[in-house]
Amino acid sequence: MKYKRVLLKLSGEALMGSRQYGIDNDRLVEYAKEIKKVVDAGVELAIVIGGGNIFRGVAGAAKGMDRVQGDYMGMLATVINGMALQGALEDQGIKTRLQSAIEMDKVAEPFIKRRAVRHLEKGRVVIFGAGTGNPYFTTDTAATLRAIEIGADVILKGTRVDGIYDSDPEKNADAVKFNSLSYDEVFEKDLKVMDMTAFTLSKENNLPIIVFDMNKDGNLLKVVLGEEVGTLVNI
Ligand code: UDP
Repeated sequence: MKYKRVLLKLSGEALMGSRQYGIDNDRLVEYAKEIKKVVDAGVELAIVIGGGNIFRGVAGAAKGMDRVQGDYMGMLATVINGMALQGALEDQGIKTRLQSAIEMDKVAEPFIKRRAVRHLEKGRVVIFGAGTGNPYFTTDTAATLRAIEIGADVILKGTRVDGIYDSDPEKNADAVKFNSLSYDEVFEKDLKVMDMTAFTLSKENNLPIIVFDMNKDGNLLKVVLGEEVGTLVNI
């Protein structure tokens, strides 16, 4: 096993599957099965999930809503997704804990780093909800922050494309994939891996990032085993 403790970042949009909005139950079950493979292999796994399938503060602000209000709505959306994922994981027999950056004691524990680490050591999957708990941030930043806090070896960004390309592979058939990149190359080539806040935080703390296709059967396990899947960004 190459990576012992990992943080998996899933976008909210990924949960939509073929739908236009909300949560696709089949997709949720597929993800839970993929996650079970790595948990059974003994990996300590923490997850941050986005909320874009339900609400994004920027989208609300574009229509005249107060940005801060919208961002808190987005953070609550990540808790809804976290609860859905928690249910799906427990259906697979995986022990989980949901920790929220916004206190919500009926549905989630508060985020407490030491407690999160203890859960991981006991083999529980820890889902971090409500992002960083602050407006004007993203769940990519929350994922990076939590990964650093819990001492994760790597952040795994599960997407629907199989890595980082020199241009958008969904729009350009000639797009070329990178197997690995340094942080500086990502800056120089202006590649979109994560938003700048998240990316800078990863770079400053030497946290490697792997971008990979989460929708491909067995890929998540391959990544943690150290197989060449997706694109690795590090020093
Ligand atoms: N959000 C926030 N602070 C955070 C994390 C998220 O305000 O620390 C809000 C923000 O409005 C964001 C929304 O929650 O648009 C959903 O998160 P994100 O857009 O990162 O989700 P994803 O794109 O991964 O689905």
